[in-house]
Amino acid sequence: MIICCVKVCRHKKPKDLCKLHRLPKDQKSCKEWVRRIGVEELLYKSLKDLNNVYLCSCHFTKQDYRSNKYLNPGAIPTQFSDDTHPISDEKMEKDIVKKLVSLLIRRECDKVNRKIEMEEIKAANAAKIADLSGKAK
Ligand SMILES: [Zn+2]
Ligand SMILES: [Zn+2]
Repeated sequence: MIICCVKVCRHKKPKDLCKLHRLPKDQKSCKEWVRRIGVEELLYKSLKDLNNVYLCSCHFTKQDYRSNKYLNPGAIPTQFSDDTHPISDEKMEKDIVKKLVSLLIRRECDKVNRKIEMEEIKAANAAKIADLSGKAK
């Protein structure tokens, strides 16, 4: 279900008439949205997963929109109730950088490992085929 990720808001479509926007794909803007949204769990999500998190139009001003549907590129949410506290810079740096770096490293390692595995399987298969065709002769 498409629902606003702000804990005290939770507006959803179509019951609430606001628009819902995905968190931006651009890492720098996305980080700034997360910081302002103030939901620490979001720090542990990958950029790709964050792109499936939504924020509703209640957190933007009219000036943030370039049409009645689309936000200006680089728009940053500013409208939050007093119950929403931005994540501290210290926490942002500590958590997001570490988590993102370890996630990226893990992903790269996985990719490399998978490549090696594929090469090994290919080599093993080639050896088997060579062996079989050798036996057939
Ligand atoms: Zn909302
Ligand atoms: Zn809303």
